[in-house]
Amino acid sequence: MPYMTALSGEQIASVLKALPDPAFLLTRSGRYAAAFGGADVRYYNEIGFLAGKTMAELLVPSKAEWFLAEIHKALATRSLHVVEYGLVSEDILDMAGKPPLKASWFEGRVQALEFQVDGEDAVLWVASNITARHQLEAQLRLHSESDELSGLNNRRKLMGALAEHYQVFLRYRTPTALLIFDIDHFKNINDQFGHLFGDRAIRAAADVCRDELRSTDFPARLGGDEFVVLMPHTGRAQAAPIAERLRLRVAEALLRLGAVGGGGTISGGLSEFAAGDTHAEDVLKRADDALYRAKRGGRNRIVSV
Ligand code: GH3
Ligand code: MG
Repeated sequence: MPYMTALSGEQIASVLKALPDPAFLLTRSGRYAAAFGGADVRYYNEIGFLAGKTMAELLVPSKAEWFLAEIHKALATRSLHVVEYGLVSEDILDMAGKPPLKASWFEGRVQALEFQVDGEDAVLWVASNITARHQLEAQLRLHSESDELSGLNNRRKLMGALAEHYQVFLRYRTPTALLIFDIDHFKNINDQFGHLFGDRAIRAAADVCRDELRSTDFPARLGGDEFVVLMPHTGRAQAAPIAERLRLRVAEALLRLGAVGGGGTISGGLSEFAAGDTHAEDVLKRADDALYRAKRGGRNRIVSV
């Protein structure tokens, strides 16, 4: 037994109350046997009102079931069980007149206790508010995966998605089409109307992708005036009319913007994962070759291979 200053029960209660993070004694059946701490008012509302209540009384069924399952996991493993979860006001049935909860993320550290509480197995659940870290992570992820100018996915994110869908194709032969398109004579647009106008044209093309594509389609900006649309569960034949529609819609959008004369259309190359492919990128190479042929063939067209 390590050395410890003898504390009275009252003093121990006062120490527990002073703990910055909230800590709950939760039983196997989902009862809050006790609630301690949560003294850091920057992150936590008063929690004392929870003691004695059950999860079924306090939380919507889906949340209550989730908490219960995690308690059971911690009880089964007997080792520290770490979980992350979000909570919003709508998850909580009974706020006991407390102010509504701001949407928050928590890390729960859950440890089975070596004694029973009110005749039941129990865990200690310490919750830490990680909302700020969670938001920062989401922001970083967004920055590392999206293209700043267009808001579309960037090349890195595209290559990840391409690799994932290639694996699905290898296993299940699920068709996936890929369109690569590039604005025709974009240099003229920049030269004639300026770089800022060029940027607006890129954003307009991205808007068309967002508006015209299905939510399962995956549009990305490769860089410059070059875009890729990955179309999962779509064969090349099925993708052809979609690519044609994009070609027309982008041209319309650029015309609306005022990009007239020497540019403002797009050329595209369309392909799909093929049986002989050995790398996820093979389809990109084929589509790129097709794009080259579309340019050579006079632009403002999609070539499918
Ligand atoms: P082509 O029909 O053969 O595609 O001719 P192009 O003039 O469009 O030539 P290319 O696609 O090779 O050139 C793309 C140009 O896009 C070159 C570059 O100056 C310009 N560009 C690249 N990135 C940006 C950007 O972020 N904003 C703007 N405004 N222009 C860009
Ligand atoms: Mg171009």
